[in-house]
Amino acid sequence: MTINEIAMNGSIKKPHFVLVPFLAQGHMIPMIDFARLLALNGVLVTVVTTPVNTARFKAIVDRANAAGLIIRLAELRFPCAEVGLPEGCENVDLIPNAQEYGAGFMEAVSLLREPLLRHLREQWPAPSCLVVDSCSPWAVDVARELGIPRFVFHSPSCFFLLAGRNASKVKPADPFEPFLVPDFPHELQVVKGQALQFFDYPGWEKLFAEIKAAEASADGLVINTFQELEAAYLDSYSKALGKKMWAVGPVCLVNKNLDDKFSRGDKITSVDEKFISSWLDERDPKSVIYVSCGSVAINSFSHLVEVGLGLESSSQAFLWVIKKVEMTPAVEAWLEEFEGRTRSRGLIVRGWAPQILILTHPSVGGFMTHSGWNSTLEAVTAGIPMVTWPHMVDQFLNEKFVVEVLRTGVALKPRILTMSISPEYEGLITREDVEKAVRKVCFGKPYALVVFVIGPAYPLELGLKEVNNDAHVAILGRTALSLASKKTKLYVISGNCNGVKLIKVEDE
Ligand code: UDP
Repeated sequence: MTINEIAMNGSIKKPHFVLVPFLAQGHMIPMIDFARLLALNGVLVTVVTTPVNTARFKAIVDRANAAGLIIRLAELRFPCAEVGLPEGCENVDLIPNAQEYGAGFMEAVSLLREPLLRHLREQWPAPSCLVVDSCSPWAVDVARELGIPRFVFHSPSCFFLLAGRNASKVKPADPFEPFLVPDFPHELQVVKGQALQFFDYPGWEKLFAEIKAAEASADGLVINTFQELEAAYLDSYSKALGKKMWAVGPVCLVNKNLDDKFSRGDKITSVDEKFISSWLDERDPKSVIYVSCGSVAINSFSHLVEVGLGLESSSQAFLWVIKKVEMTPAVEAWLEEFEGRTRSRGLIVRGWAPQILILTHPSVGGFMTHSGWNSTLEAVTAGIPMVTWPHMVDQFLNEKFVVEVLRTGVALKPRILTMSISPEYEGLITREDVEKAVRKVCFGKPYALVVFVIGPAYPLELGLKEVNNDAHVAILGRTALSLASKKTKLYVISGNCNGVKLIKVEDE
């Protein structure tokens, strides 16, 4: 049975999917993309949101509605006051201090249960199914009360889900002692500190158990990835849980026109998007390294300085996003001088950048990333090699996937020294690390391995894409993935939805 058939719920002609995102940018952004994909396929979609979150993606939903897609918003009041959160703190990236407010935020999220149930009971047509982010197990009861199927939406990679699940069976005394992940499709060595599942940390035991139970009782799993990239992991994970899994990604590819690319996520930025576009237009093809650590990871002053000085000495043109919350007076003062020295080839965006627009611009040739899964998929689908600098949870395993399996990137720091990088950390990276990794990705031997056969929802739009010199990034399917494990260096592959043809392979 297809997901549509399950959701049809008998009498309703148009299936009505209710999407319940987790209120974090890295979870909401792919959920909104997924909503548009569903609507494009004739589904009526309701997205559960709160006022502050609505403001961030209203433009994109309005445009979709104007184009004839039916996406409704179930906007619920977020109960900040009830749990002692500052007003307006409706998304993970708005929590002023995770230690102090993290638990309150999760409690406020779970208080959406009753209002959501009331709201959905009044809807026509009645919801056919719920698609609930894995970090929002509170919505289990809503589906149960309404008597409709419920699917779990996984926003991280399947590589991470499988490795994290299987690694949890091993209990080493030292969190930094390497071990092999059991029952994994190929050899994978990790340390405990880099293979933890979401909320598998002291203090979050109850939520972690709820997440696991919600997954175990779900009617199926939906994941933002694609078969050709993660076939082996999808197969193993689906078998391990005894669940049907739908790989619906990469959902970011639904953003085709400039307006969508401009308005994805937050709009608060110091530089006008049109300026960013024209700045990139003026640069040579593949000459710019884009640097961003996603929506949540926060870097200390000293780490920002090392990144800046490393970029400066790499002689590479760069577009660097620094979050508003990282902009302390010390950072601002330092940046003033730094910008003076590097203005001819560097652009700093304070706040939020239109990432998809940047990654798909022809003048971008490398991406220094914190290895969030959305960012990773966005780079993979744009054919951009990465410098990986994971900060927390799934990002460490995403790095492994990119560096060791796909081989489309280099690690900024090959050895893991901490289980997360937060603003207090100093001295974990040096300017030399940054310079070396950036040079390797932008000027070094090509890392040409990017995989793309997009599911039937997407017309395949790629041809060969030059990475640098003689390398190409193109379409990889299962063939390429199996070759990757044999440590082949360069693949040049062309193809379309009907098949993938390997043109050339060079072994190391
Ligand atoms: N993003 C963006 N502009 C920014 C920062 C982030 O558009 O300045 C988007 C990015 O394209 C991705 C998402 O925010 O879709 C971040 O998700 P990811 O999983 O990469 O990292 P997280 O923020 O969850 O750590």
